[in-house]
Amino acid sequence: MTDPSTTPVRVRFAPSPTGALHVGGARTALFTWLFAHGEAKRAGRDGTFVLRIEDTDRNRLVPGATEAIFDVLAWFGLTWQEGPDVGGPHGPYVQSERADLYREHAEGLIAAGHAYRCFCTPERLAEVRREQEARKEPTGYDRRCRGLAGEEVAARLAAGERSVVRFAMPLDGETRFVDLIRGEIVYQNATLEDLVLLKGDGFPTYHLANVVDDHLMAITHITRGPEWIPSAPLHVRLYDAFGWAMPVLAHMPLILAPGGGKLSKRHGATAMEEFRSQGYLPEALANYLVLLGWSFDATTELFSREDLLEKFSLERVSASPATFDYAKLRWFNKQYINHVLGLDDLTARVVPFLAAAGLVDPAAADAGHPDFARLRPAVALLKDRIETLDEAPELLGYFLRDEADPYDPTLLIPKKLGLEETLDALLAVERTLEEVDLGDEAATEARFRALADELGLKPGQLFMPIRVAVTGRTQTAGLFETMRVIGRERCLGRVAAAAGVLRRHGDEALSADD
Ligand code: GLU
Repeated sequence: MTDPSTTPVRVRFAPSPTGALHVGGARTALFTWLFAHGEAKRAGRDGTFVLRIEDTDRNRLVPGATEAIFDVLAWFGLTWQEGPDVGGPHGPYVQSERADLYREHAEGLIAAGHAYRCFCTPERLAEVRREQEARKEPTGYDRRCRGLAGEEVAARLAAGERSVVRFAMPLDGETRFVDLIRGEIVYQNATLEDLVLLKGDGFPTYHLANVVDDHLMAITHITRGPEWIPSAPLHVRLYDAFGWAMPVLAHMPLILAPGGGKLSKRHGATAMEEFRSQGYLPEALANYLVLLGWSFDATTELFSREDLLEKFSLERVSASPATFDYAKLRWFNKQYINHVLGLDDLTARVVPFLAAAGLVDPAAADAGHPDFARLRPAVALLKDRIETLDEAPELLGYFLRDEADPYDPTLLIPKKLGLEETLDALLAVERTLEEVDLGDEAATEARFRALADELGLKPGQLFMPIRVAVTGRTQTAGLFETMRVIGRERCLGRVAAAAGVLRRHGDEALSADD
């Protein structure tokens, strides 16, 4: 006998390539990965994470979805030791390449009396359903073909009649199983249907393929979304019919939308790719998602991947639904951007967003690239204001372009000052800029304070037009550090441009008065 407490743990993530990976799926994948690589290994067990593509529903396939799933899982930091692209001892890992296996297993079930051929047409099934609805009975297959004699089945098959294979559920009694997260779950067999295992097109349904593969791939723990609980009694019966040991089952808690109900596009992003393109960090998203159903204690919120490998356990996953909170996710992202990522790392990560806006070369993510060196000090100045990476073009644009952001010329004119006086001040600023060393922020500030004094202005009255001229904005990081990063040449150009803008504005105002 092998000792179950030391046998290797083998888990799988088994997405269907029917669209983009949803956050709920990613949360399941994360819990599964942490279980294999953290909890199992802490217990001295080997942990293997298998990626399997469940593509037997041929009508719902989305071209490119499989590759997109690989890509987003890798971005999310989840690696697989066996899978379609890396292979492994239990392959192939794509179900459409295993069709013969499922057919053989379906035949085996028929031979053992656990399954049967059903020749009912879709029209007949629809008719049965209509009648059941009219009688207000529960709907479902009426098992008409369950009692067909062997000769009749053989004859109809020989005649080429289309059929499916259905599982013969016990008609009475109960099906029980223990869910690691929810405890014991009991179904009355009388409420269960004879579900289809093999479809008319020869492809298996999810149920057959999933059970056969989990067994053949030696999966020890089935971790999956809560929507599969109603399928579990059939799976339990299938394992039993095949004479196989049942893996441990763990169904994740439901994820609810803010305000309840299913999380959908209406509420915001739901696909991992959307969160990625909105500038969420995989670390922040993982930290947020792991807390949708798991907690370590009542207070700790920030967990690095290493912390999670040390602390995560499936036993501490709650059975109660978790509510998705977009504001909280944003808070996590901000924490990671402001406090967790190092400056070089953050600089590299804003590059794709800036490159998409045409502000830097896409190769600037490389620390050796000249744009990287230009960008880094600007990121250092503004990193505390970035909440999602997609804000970078808006926040950093004026550091990267030659000109300031476009602005309303009247913003240049400070309170209690006229246009002419502002123009004079800007000219004086230009002259002063020629003399100062912007690298010495304290000396620059002292010089501009003195200039304000010379002009009979309060420092704020002088600093606001400088700020607007140099950045195009009324709110920025510290003026002198901002000027240092923008550099003297560009500051000079922008102040001169501002004087021009203001002069034109004055002329236009005059001609409008005529
Ligand atoms: N293919 C199923 C899905 O996409 C897998 C469910 C399971 O893990 O058993 O949800």
